[in-house]
Parts: sequence; C-alpha cells; structure tokens
Amino acid sequence: MTYLTGAGPGELELLTIKALRVIKEADVIIYDRLANPQILKEAKNGCEFIYVGKEDGHHIMPQDDINETIYQSSLKYNTVVRLKGGDPFVFGRGGEEGIYLRERGIKFEMIPGITSAISVPAYAGIPVTHRGIAVSFRVITGHETSDKKSSQIDWESFKNDETIVFLMGLHNLRKISKKLIAIGKPEDYPVAVISRGTTSEQKTIVSTLKNISKDAKDLPTPALIIVGEVVKLRENLNWFESN
Ligand code: SAH
Repeated sequence: MTYLTGAGPGELELLTIKALRVIKEADVIIYDRLANPQILKEAKNGCEFIYVGKEDGHHIMPQDDINETIYQSSLKYNTVVRLKGGDPFVFGRGGEEGIYLRERGIKFEMIPGITSAISVPAYAGIPVTHRGIAVSFRVITGHETSDKKSSQIDWESFKNDETIVFLMGLHNLRKISKKLIAIGKPEDYPVAVISRGTTSEQKTIVSTLKNISKDAKDLPTPALIIVGEVVKLRENLNWFESN
C-alpha cells in the first residue's frame, strides 16, 4: 500500500498514531523538508529514504518527478510512505499525487496530519476562532501576490473580521500587510508571525499590519502569518513559549 501521510507541524508527538504505524512498517519513505527529521528515526532498519525536498514552494525536485518517484516506488515496494509536513491536502499537493497514482492503477490511502495552519497558532496561544471575536478563519497561500495578474485571491473579501492564516507568506509579508491596509484594515490591526512552530525553536512576533514586516524580517522559516483580533488573546493564552 502507498500512504499519503501527514507528518504534523513539528513536535514529534503531534504525529498521528496511524502515521507512526506506517512509518515503522515502511519499505521506503519519500519526504520533504520536515519540521522534525526525528520522525525518520522511527523507520525500520533497511528502510530506504528519498528526499524530494520542497522549501517554501521552491522545489528541489519538480512535482512531476515527485509523482513519478512515488509511482515507481509503489511498483517496487509493498509499503510506501509519502510523508509531508502538516497535512498533505493543505497546500501539500497531496491531491495531485493521489490523482497521479489513481490514473496509473495504484491504490493509496490518505493519512491526514495536524496542519500547521491551526496547530502552530495554538502553540503560540492564538485560537483561530473565539466566541465574540472571530466566527470564521481562512487559510490562504501567501506565495501568490496581489500584483500577479493571475491572482486567485479576492483581497476585497478580507474586509470581514475573520482570522486569516497565510502559509508560505514570509517573503511577501510586506506586500500582504500593505494590501490588507489598502482594502481598509486599520494600520494597528493585530498580526503575528510564528516561526518554527511547535518545535523547541518556536518564536512568535506580535505586531501590527503597519510594523510587522519590519519586526519579523529576520525570523527563520518555516513561518506562518496570522492576522486578526484573535492575536491579542495570546496575552492570556501564551503557554508554550512561557511554560
Ligand atoms: N501541508 C502543510 C503546509 C505546507 S505549505 C501543513 O498542513 O501544515 C508550507 C508552509 O506551512 C510554510 O511556508 C509555513 O507557512 C507553514 N508551516 C509549516 N510548518 C510550520 C511550522 N512548524 N511553523 C510555522 N509555519 C509552518
């Protein structure tokens, strides 16, 4: 069987029991850059490792080649684990990999993972929804920018008081915050950038739309951006960085 498997956001224990089981059984593990490489130590002796790294959207191996690698491995081995950070179906191209396998008659199973989009804010003490503050949240790619003609992002729709989580957005932080101010959000609207969330290197910068790009410019990746009034709850809910 081939498993499209979520590795979770970083902390080892945020891996699911099911993911851990297939990792232990795997004949080959095809993996991206992981927030926690310790996971690979759970594999059995003789397990083959194939790194097809993907860093902030920059591929070391093109997606077509990754698809083909998973396919070829599936022909060759009994237990194939395609391991991806967070959840494979949240900006993880897991859907494309599944379709590629299906079209070639390969059976797969999908093992969801804990996505960074929710768990990393949680480890920074920021709930993505909170009664009376935010009734919804959105997870958006920050990789695509507003000046791209082909942008699929409807910036005007961000006018509501909704929590917005940008993944892959650190390099576009300045553009993103400018754009949100341009559509009418106050300059002092709360924003946080959380770097290397759920790991021992987790770091959170809380700022405003006006100042965040200056304040967070030196943070290492992976990092996500969270925008919304919920960011203020960190004052009372921060636990991981203060315990
Ligand atoms: N499938 C993944 C997301 C892939 S996109 C998931 O569900 O989590 C990669 C982006 O996720 C990074 O650019 C960053 O914005 C975010 N990310 C992943 N792990 C993170 C971590 N430990 N801390 C902060 N951001 C993280």
